[in-house]
This record gives sequence, structure tokens and C-alpha cells, in this order.
Amino acid sequence: MPILEKITQPLQARHWTDSIPLEFHYTAGVAGEEFRRVLKESGRFLSSKCVECKTTYIPARMFCPSCFVEMKETRSLDEPGYVYSYTTVNRNRAGEDSEPVTIALVRFDGVKGGIVHKLDVTEPSKVTFGMKVVPILKDAGQRNGALTDIIAFKPQ
Ligand SMILES: [Zn+2]
Repeated sequence: MPILEKITQPLQARHWTDSIPLEFHYTAGVAGEEFRRVLKESGRFLSSKCVECKTTYIPARMFCPSCFVEMKETRSLDEPGYVYSYTTVNRNRAGEDSEPVTIALVRFDGVKGGIVHKLDVTEPSKVTFGMKVVPILKDAGQRNGALTDIIAFKPQ
């Protein structure tokens, strides 16, 4: 049935199953690839700084979204992050009860952006906004430059 034809009877609606051959390659972009490389090789987070507005961003990016200038100045963050926001989930994807998992948006002082990841805490009720956290990383040989190289963040 051509798409412009109108269905007047619901029973006329049919479906079919088929596949569409699609192939794609996703890249994180120039700055994103650099962020991944630094995470893999040194286990640190790469940020980039705008020379115009002096804003620092994480993850590193090529252009300042405010000034539209290329950001060539980068640095790895050594300081701990802090919990900007968090939630604790008590159900799995199927909606069944599960062990609580706490997810946080981890930000860094003076840096725009952040990283959403698991928090390694045994008592979610003790998590507080602003709590300092540091990443728990996979061993260097196991890292592949993905955010899954971070196992979780833990209180400092
Ligand atoms: Zn800027």
C-alpha cells in the first residue's frame, strides 16, 4: 500500500518483517578520540579550555559552544570530582527488584560538563551533593578508551 493511501478499516493495516542493510561507523570526533586515548593510556580525564571565555569543558571538545573558537588548550584533570546529582535505582531493566545501584553526575570544580557513572557506595543514603569522588579504573592493560574503563566512582 503506498504511503499516501488512507486506511479506512483498521483490519487493512498490516505489518511485515524484513531487514534493512545498514552499516555505520561511529567516531567520537577528534577531541573525543583524544579524550579516549588519554583515558586509556593514563587513566585521566582530558578537558579543553577556551582561550576566549576561559571556560573548561569535560570531556574535551574541539570548539567552544559559546564562542565558536577552536580550543587547542587541553589538560588532564588530576583533582577529584564531586557528586552534582545522583539517584539510586532498585529495579533492573525488567522492572524486578534488584540490588540498589547509585548513578551520579560527577562534575569537577571550575569545569563545565561531567561524567554520568556508577557510584561505588554500600549505603546510598550516605551519598551527599558535593561529595568528593575519584574514579576506580580498570587496569591499564584492560582499558580500551571507553567510559567502561571506569568501573565506578568512589568517595575520596
Ligand atoms: Zn568560549
